[in-house]
Amino acid sequence: MYCNYCGKVIQDDAAVCAYCGIRVGGSLARTKLVRPRLGRKIAGVCLGFSEYFDVDVTLVRVVWLVTVIMSGIGIIPYIIAWIVMPEEPLLLSAPVGARPATNA
Ligand SMILES: [Zn+2]
Repeated sequence: MYCNYCGKVIQDDAAVCAYCGIRVGGSLARTKLVRPRLGRKIAGVCLGFSEYFDVDVTLVRVVWLVTVIMSGIGIIPYIIAWIVMPEEPLLLSAPVGARPATNA
């Protein structure tokens, strides 16, 4: 890949440009659109969008609901987002002891 600052070719997995020292990686994981496992109401779609755009999750839910009601297309966009958005990887966020009991 290329450094955004100096434009030189650097390693694909580099976090810092070897030429100018500018940080080029590191924020990729946080800006990924995923459905968080904790704090979700239905599928975590609204929560994922709120974290992605760094806005309040309640605002996202209100916008979603208004869109659903006003547009007349129902919850189809939500279901599409549910299917398309990957689930957050387990190891990243689950605190010790908060693991859901799935072995029923
Ligand atoms: Zn550079």
